[in-house]
Amino acid sequence: MIEDKNPLRTPVEQLGEFGLIDHITKSFAITNNSTVKSIGDDAAVVNHDKHTIITTDMLVEGVHFDLSYVPLKHLGYKAVMVNLSDVYAMNAIATQVTVSIAISNRFPVEAVEELYEGIALACKNYGVDLIGGDTTASTSGLIISVTALGEQDKSKIVYRSGASDGDLLVVSGDIGAAYMGLQILEREKAVFKANPNNQPDIEAYSYLIERQLKPEARKDIPILLQELEVHPTSMIDVSDGLSSEIIHLCKQSSVGMKIYEDKLPLDPTVISSCEEFNLDSTTVALSGGEDYELLFTIKQADFPKIKANPSLSVIGHVLPQSDGMQLVTRGGEQIAIKAMGWNSFDS
Ligand code: ADP
Ligand code: MG
Repeated sequence: MIEDKNPLRTPVEQLGEFGLIDHITKSFAITNNSTVKSIGDDAAVVNHDKHTIITTDMLVEGVHFDLSYVPLKHLGYKAVMVNLSDVYAMNAIATQVTVSIAISNRFPVEAVEELYEGIALACKNYGVDLIGGDTTASTSGLIISVTALGEQDKSKIVYRSGASDGDLLVVSGDIGAAYMGLQILEREKAVFKANPNNQPDIEAYSYLIERQLKPEARKDIPILLQELEVHPTSMIDVSDGLSSEIIHLCKQSSVGMKIYEDKLPLDPTVISSCEEFNLDSTTVALSGGEDYELLFTIKQADFPKIKANPSLSVIGHVLPQSDGMQLVTRGGEQIAIKAMGWNSFDS
């Protein structure tokens, strides 16, 4: 589906490893005071006044992405987003990233340039500095590993383990759209394979596809919560799927939870595309994954501070651990929440 818009194919050998690193990193500017030494030495140096938050995520071709419908620029952007999302899920400010890539010889310099265009855009939009990485050859496919650093006052860092009985469970934005975007991309890929002259008809699904290909991490939510003077008791980002994240919060906080089907925030296009694909929208919201929204608990007393906010939905509440984890359906039935999240070890 993705046409080769760039006919130039400069082999990486022409620049060599050091030439390539120079070429792709030279335009990156440093904007954070905490970046002391960036690319160019044996290691980068950072000086955070506060606690340092560190997180890594690796994306592997054929496991996490399919280059037949994921443009490299989007891949670069998303690789940074999934890491920043983890920093924000600690209620912290993201400040630096390192990016390591393994590339096979089927990737010309122009492909690496495209990947780094996405990385550069992510760094610019989110105010983080690219401070290093590693570049190596791969015998098959593309691997991209990003490490993100962030900082926060010790007292403001939020862990998965702080939820307690009576807290409210809140999610930002809406969920399920990234999964439906993937369904549409997979369907269009199949259609295209059957008939390459068939132009994909994806206008109506642009929101869903954007959520899949170009997710945005919720940098705004820790800032918003600080402004509202709400300190979450526990927090996690929604990468594997809502039900899987609920289970993480419950296990690590030693609590139970009840959530309500009618409170789940779904975009109207998620509902309509679910009908089209004959999928249950609640199942998609619970197990879809890759939404990169933030899921957190707050004290009940903080409810008035968040209730009018369109970016935040209260979807349930915390119970004692012995009550388990339940979904209350629209019909009032209770169903146990099980892990159905996306897992790369599933066949
Ligand atoms: P070393 O041999 O000390 O590991 P490298 O030659 O691998 O150093 O890297 C030189 C510099 O370029 C280092 O600052 C490193 O962090 C940076 N770098 C290497 N590869 C990348 C990359 N893919 N993206 C960003 N920076 C990179
Ligand atoms: Mg190296």
